[in-house]
Amino acid sequence: MELKKIGEFGLINSIARRAPGAPSDIIRGIGDDAAVIALDKTRCLLFTTDTLIESIHFETSFTSPYLLGKKSLAVNLSDIAAMGGTPHSFVVSLSIPPGVTYEFIKKFYAGIYAQAKKFNVSLVGGDTTASPDKLAITISLLGAARAGEVICRHGACTGDAIYVTGFLGDSALGLSLLKKKKAGSSVNCLVKQHLDPVPRVAQGREIARRSVASSMIDVSDGLLADLRHILDESGVGARLRLDRVPLSPRYCKSLQRGSADYYNAALCGGEDYELLFTVPPEKEKTIATLRKLSGIPLTRIGEVAGKKGELKIFDESGREVSYKREGFTHF
Ligand code: ADP
Ligand code: MG
Repeated sequence: MELKKIGEFGLINSIARRAPGAPSDIIRGIGDDAAVIALDKTRCLLFTTDTLIESIHFETSFTSPYLLGKKSLAVNLSDIAAMGGTPHSFVVSLSIPPGVTYEFIKKFYAGIYAQAKKFNVSLVGGDTTASPDKLAITISLLGAARAGEVICRHGACTGDAIYVTGFLGDSALGLSLLKKKKAGSSVNCLVKQHLDPVPRVAQGREIARRSVASSMIDVSDGLLADLRHILDESGVGARLRLDRVPLSPRYCKSLQRGSADYYNAALCGGEDYELLFTVPPEKEKTIATLRKLSGIPLTRIGEVAGKKGELKIFDESGREVSYKREGFTHF
């Protein structure tokens, strides 16, 4: 059978179903942004990995080796942020095709080290091989969390509010501008969001420390696709308000409001690396404090409601709208 038929998430589910039983210290295995392993009664280890492949996740003609290094680590940091954890240390595996120079790799590592310094994580190993054709980068990152503070994808309850950090869609717009080879100063903000995303580690930590969220995920595949993961894992439904989806001023400037695809990049674009989380009603008052601390927008975009697995989207006039494509998947 072709993998296209079963799809990326069908494949992962099938792998998970066949996995032998795990010992009881594996609190969370396949199915979340990071695995959660109990160290003792109070502390957990978080463990995540992400791969970037040339021509699928990046083009060397669009980015610099320095920014590629930064982003490779950022996407992993974002998964630890989504669990409310503190990142600790990582390994890097590189498969390098002919033509990549020593200078390229040195600049790539300068980017990795700059990001590592900023987020206080250490490179502790890796692997280096040749590749026949494309550059492949895999980073695996360990993090830590207090046992009671880990936030999974499965805790959302009907009646919870749905929040997201920052703005959505800038990265997808940035990528489409890169593909069209457009440049300019407002373009640069969008492109920067795509090439140099900032993982929301501090925000994830605060959300966890203050027990604000019942579930959380980072937006890597697109808002709708990642909200879908929360709904599936939690066994709930959701209602979203289109006009509440946070769009940056440069997003609004670059698209014609009212055009059919106005919200596409924000809903389905992906690679935003913002945090999407659900908040029980009694915790919503804490959001104001979080807003002051975080320095980035925290926006209520909808609520957990309706039937299990049902995702309804409404426009500003209360009319239901439908989206066929929810986000990025491989295969
Ligand atoms: P994220 O976008 O947060 O990195 P993914 O969508 O890549 O998460 O993966 C979803 C879940 O499936 C994660 O728990 C991940 O560890 C797991 N997973 C993905 N690919 C595999 C695989 N080939 N084998 C086992 N688990 C996998
Ligand atoms: Mg994730």
